[in-house]
Amino acid sequence: MRRRRMADSELDEIQIVRRENRKLKQQISQLRKQISRIDVDRFQNLKELLDAQDRQDAEEAAARRQAELDRAWECWDCRQGTLKLSIIERRDGVWYNRYCQECGKRTKLQRYNDKVKN
Ligand SMILES: [Zn+2]
Repeated sequence: MRRRRMADSELDEIQIVRRENRKLKQQISQLRKQISRIDVDRFQNLKELLDAQDRQDAEEAAARRQAELDRAWECWDCRQGTLKLSIIERRDGVWYNRYCQECGKRTKLQRYNDKVKN
């Protein structure tokens, strides 16, 4: 490559790039040191803690959904039990009713379809 005289502005740019390069190298070596100092056991604990928190959140959400369903299907008669869906397949089609385990109330049999909620 043929050498050519550099303008002052080009020299300035080289200075800036060199300075940035030095700064980046410093940052990389600091990060390397930090990474090498990470306590693997503690990191594992942290991960387990986060996983446990995720599991707990999911369980609580499921419990909330179930509680809402239980409220929605509270037995009309005893107000204690929950009306549970039972599906009956017969020769004349699929039917359903709901049954309370507390008082034994049974709703009347109706034709089952996809829109029946549980
Ligand atoms: Zn009941």
